[in-house]
Amino acid sequence: MATDTQDCIFCQIVAGKVPCFKIYEDERTLAFADINPVTEGHTLVIPKAHAENLLDITPGDLAAVHQTAQKIARAQLACLKATGVTVVQLSGEGANQVVMHYHVHLIPRDRTKDGLDKFEWESKPGNMRSIERIAGKIKDAL
Ligand code: 5GP
Ligand code: ZN
Repeated sequence: MATDTQDCIFCQIVAGKVPCFKIYEDERTLAFADINPVTEGHTLVIPKAHAENLLDITPGDLAAVHQTAQKIARAQLACLKATGVTVVQLSGEGANQVVMHYHVHLIPRDRTKDGLDKFEWESKPGNMRSIERIAGKIKDAL
């Protein structure tokens, strides 16, 4: 069932009612830092128009989100100590989706140093100053 966009935290971020560390935006998409980063530079890319998940996002927004994801991933690799990017998209409660507004996680990785499993990791509240600083670094690398 579609989330009421009034109650959707990511719609509120798009509307500027909830703050975020913005990295990039265009007509259709927004990229911002995850506040519980799995690794330094963990970024979320969302469509500005509310869609719950992969099943209901429009083809145009789906393409736009992934084009933005590619831009961000390139910037992450250019400015962070990462040698790869784990791209995660959870669709539906059964997949552990928590925020019911389509989003792609871009998690900068170096498997030789970050000690994470291939598909399992923990997100923890981050240090806001550090998240803001790293978000600025990725933004500058775009
Ligand atoms: P999901 O499990 O739905 O794929 O992930 C939701 C993500 O959104 C989590 O990684 C969580 O840290 C992030 N998140 C939830 N609320 C907020 C918020 O208010 N601001 C930001 N920047 N990220 C959020
Ligand atoms: Zn929404």
